[in-house]
Amino acid sequence: MGASSTLPACHAILREVFGYGDFRGPQQAIIEHVVEGCDALVLMPTGGGKSLCYQIPAIARQQAGHGITVVISPLIALMHDQVGALHEAGVSAAFLNSTLSGEEATQVEKRLMRGDITLLYAAPERVTTPRFLAQLDFLHERGQLSLFAIDEAHCVSQWGHDFRPEYRALTVLHERYGSVPRIALTATADALTREDILERLQLQEARQFVSSFDRPNISYTIVEKKDATQQLLRFISREHMGDAGIVYCQSRKRVEDIANVLCDEGIAALPYHAGLDAKVRQANQDQFLRSEGVVMVATIAFGMGIDKPDVRFVAHLDMPKNIEGYYQETGRAGRDGEAADAWMCYGLQDVVNQRRMIDESPAGEEFKQGLRGKLDALLGLAEATDCRRVRLLAYFGEASQPCGNCDNCLSPPEVWDGTEAARKLLSTIYRVQQMGGISYGAGHIMDILRGKSTEKVAQRGHEALSTFGIGADLSEVQLRGVLRQLIAIGAVTVDAEAFNTLQLTDASRAVLKGEVPVQLRASVSSPAERKARRGSSVIGAAAKVPASLDTEGQDRYMALKAWRAEVAREHNLPAYVIFHDATLAAIAERAPQSLGDLQGISGIGAKKLEAYGDEVLRVVGGA
Ligand code: ADP
Ligand code: ZN
Repeated sequence: MGASSTLPACHAILREVFGYGDFRGPQQAIIEHVVEGCDALVLMPTGGGKSLCYQIPAIARQQAGHGITVVISPLIALMHDQVGALHEAGVSAAFLNSTLSGEEATQVEKRLMRGDITLLYAAPERVTTPRFLAQLDFLHERGQLSLFAIDEAHCVSQWGHDFRPEYRALTVLHERYGSVPRIALTATADALTREDILERLQLQEARQFVSSFDRPNISYTIVEKKDATQQLLRFISREHMGDAGIVYCQSRKRVEDIANVLCDEGIAALPYHAGLDAKVRQANQDQFLRSEGVVMVATIAFGMGIDKPDVRFVAHLDMPKNIEGYYQETGRAGRDGEAADAWMCYGLQDVVNQRRMIDESPAGEEFKQGLRGKLDALLGLAEATDCRRVRLLAYFGEASQPCGNCDNCLSPPEVWDGTEAARKLLSTIYRVQQMGGISYGAGHIMDILRGKSTEKVAQRGHEALSTFGIGADLSEVQLRGVLRQLIAIGAVTVDAEAFNTLQLTDASRAVLKGEVPVQLRASVSSPAERKARRGSSVIGAAAKVPASLDTEGQDRYMALKAWRAEVAREHNLPAYVIFHDATLAAIAERAPQSLGDLQGISGIGAKKLEAYGDEVLRVVGGA
């Protein structure tokens, strides 16, 4: 079977089953490779379109008589919706996990044995049970085991917070069913994790497909923390009222507090963290997925596998641990390709907290050193005065040009030369330590620099220092900026074990000598300004009702939305599983008179046309 005979079939499946006109990025190459029965490792950012990379081969290979595809996924809470989405597209799918009753599980097993399923989703702990393996043996002996898709494959690796020991047992697939092709997929880009996946799943021979990790529709903004809660409120009320979003916080308590504050302000917010009862967590997740415009306030426990396409913003109220985490979390915005925001607010205290957590962790020194390096890279991103995206992509090994769609590109920050200020700060730390043999925290050092005769300054005799008052021309905000930058470049460390005192490092000397220039942002432009500039960028801001529609079109759109909500409720599925917003907008724009007019609209496959076509015509006709 050559590529020429399989590819038209795959394109037909894309069009007829999923209703899409073209493959995205490397999808075609991946699908071609897997349909032929070869192994693959797919690295694609969140929202890149990984699902089709195994769903289309599953359908094509079953049509060719190869039997079922088993999808291994840790996302038990999402399997129901994933399978529901395939049903809507007319694909036979099922799942096996602990949420099913014994009776329901038996029904699925019977269908499996009959060959009545194209894609079976199962959790790794289920796949490796003797009972399930016996069923796979049965299918395999009859040539009816077509493909294994290992989703969220980074779960096999210890290098990340998603590690699942059950994933290690998946080597059984290769050992027991060596002739069955496997495709492993992940959105985690770093080299260490990739190596680990290849080794643990014995995929060394597999072809690797590494996509660009750029998400051009996401606009990155990082602001200095002043009053985080108020800043968040302003951000949401100015730019995202009524939008679905995720707000990440460091602690469970903060999650609860922020969710309450948002609710008080009339924003539909729900909390999510590991301390909540499992039922409450599931209910909140369902509401986030099924209702429009819900803001989930969460710890990093939330988000893996969340495939809600219309999340319009991801906000970080506290600094994450590293760029990988930041990128994965922000990647949950704008999966539908429409404009979305990644907004982070960070301050000196975040840096201090993260350092302390590393210092106090029981891990070995070498491992801690690695964590510190990752934190520093994130600090560098936060303090950057040039394009955020260029820095992000460079971190993942990709070269790029300034993006025109991040805060620094949209309103280039005024930069001032902070070298002199940095030298003043460092020499104050140095002199204070020389004088009394002990170090002090940021507040005291700044008081000395600014020439404030506080009680503590007077008591310690620090008014006598030659650096007393030499920074009086600088504001406290400016000095804090200098300090953050010095921490970011490693010229100052904060000693968590000694009351967060500031310490000099080996790197301090070069700055003191004036060999390393220190560039600082002078001010952060106001959000209003930012918004205005963005209007002229390539990607327009998403509106709740597409602005491209005329008044009648908007009426049709609203009527379609109401109809969709009803269907989604009846089917117990999220609305986007029925049709994406973009599909509704395209229908509203076309004002279809016949089923023929609906054909070719992105997102309307054959099954959906048959199931919903007449109703859609009725809805837009009566609007
Ligand atoms: P990932 O799993 O990589 O995060 P998904 O598989 O969930 O991404 O796809 C993200 C979104 O993009 C989904 O809503 C999907 O329907 C859509 N999509 C994927 N491939 C295409 C395509 N070729 N054309 C149009 N939309 C696509
Ligand atoms: Zn940029």
